[in-house]
Amino acid sequence: MKADVVICGGAIIGSAVAWFLRDLGFDGSITVVERDPGFAQASTALSASGIRQQFSDPLNVAISRFGVEFIKGAKARWGLDLGLRENGYLYLANTAEGAATLRANHRVQSAAGADIALLDAPALATRFPHLETGDITLAALGLSGEGWFDNMGLLQGFRRAEVTRLRDTVTGLQVAGGKVTGVRLASGATIACGAFVNAAGPAAADVARMAGLHIPVERRKRTNFLFDSAEPPTGDLPLMIDPTGVWVRPEGRQFLTGCTPPDDPAVAPEDFEPRYQEFEDIIWPALAARSKHFEAIRLQRFWAGQYAYNTLDRNAVVGPHPEVTNFLFANGFSGHGLQQAPAVGRALAERLVFGEYRSLDLSPLGYERIVTDTPLTEGCVI
Ligand SMILES: Cc1cc2nc3c(=O)[nH]c(=O)nc-3n(C[C@H](O)[C@H](O)[C@H](O)COP(=O)(O)OP(=O)(O)OC[C@H]3O[C@@H](n4cnc5c(N)ncnc54)[C@H](O)[C@@H]3O)c2cc1C
Repeated sequence: MKADVVICGGAIIGSAVAWFLRDLGFDGSITVVERDPGFAQASTALSASGIRQQFSDPLNVAISRFGVEFIKGAKARWGLDLGLRENGYLYLANTAEGAATLRANHRVQSAAGADIALLDAPALATRFPHLETGDITLAALGLSGEGWFDNMGLLQGFRRAEVTRLRDTVTGLQVAGGKVTGVRLASGATIACGAFVNAAGPAAADVARMAGLHIPVERRKRTNFLFDSAEPPTGDLPLMIDPTGVWVRPEGRQFLTGCTPPDDPAVAPEDFEPRYQEFEDIIWPALAARSKHFEAIRLQRFWAGQYAYNTLDRNAVVGPHPEVTNFLFANGFSGHGLQQAPAVGRALAERLVFGEYRSLDLSPLGYERIVTDTPLTEGCVI
């Protein structure tokens, strides 16, 4: 077997790269190798499907701004309604330091064109009367370009690209003369390749190791909880991030919630056991304190997924390895990769077709910062 481009991982990132390659008119052969086309354990399928402009790094704002426009264009492009609910993200601060961080982020976001409003406690109470605002020093609300959407719908759109799809597992890489020359599969086959894209999500470090490369990406567990409220708050509610780190947003008539666990170790590849205790110990108390509408709630369903967590700076690693130059990374998204798929897919396709970024320069996210140990830290990771 032979392919000009082999993509390891066919979920949102791998499929986005394939789609943008075809969109740019790439007429070479593309093979996407995916071990589980049902995506049962892919982060893409287990995600909370949010998109926001509220990042601390301006490049991440630009990436998401393209993402939201791309999602809005799905109807015209594919005839798919991705159900974007542009309700915004609402960050709450309850200390002077937290307020200063929101102000600093707001300056970055506004300069990058994001549509974010700062609200003091009285303005917050007027806008969202169900919230307890007595302790709040400042809030930041996305007025447009933020919300949530249909994750699997976006994947379905990207999967329309005409490529060869193999249900198989990449088990080894042949490297010669600074290039990946062959991709070994569990089935026993080998694909000779021109370029290789690592889109393996939480398995990114394992796949990099197959080429003798290192990427500081660990699997970190995140549990999502879906609940009913006996007396739900009304109105168009945003995705709220409480100062405790607990987040909550409407999901139809229910609510979806989760938190950044205080104890956050790397987990084993097969560990998808939800951490129910987070709901009882952290989430419910925080929600009940923030709104009386979240006192009487009933848990309906919960599941765990894995973040591909970049321990250097909680930001994506995108682009070629400086020595194995046809090995391209698209990894380490640390909980914001779904919304970044359109911009990252387009960027890597440009690298492969033109040898350079043409629309949005993603070189600050390149692998070089791993070599020089120079973090490009993203402060807003949920
Ligand atoms: C609970 C949770 C909530 C999240 N919420 C959000 C959110 O609100 N907004 C947001 O933008 N992002 C969110 N994310 C992050 C987002 O889901 C991921 O960053 C994104 O889906 C990454 O996509 P991916 O294609 O890189 O990885 P994945 O979706 O994990 O896909 C990787 C694929 O590679 C395949 N694979 C791995 N190794 C091999 C191999 N050796 N051979 C063949 N196939 C292989 C896997 O089977 C898998 O299908 C969340 C993640 C989690 C876990």
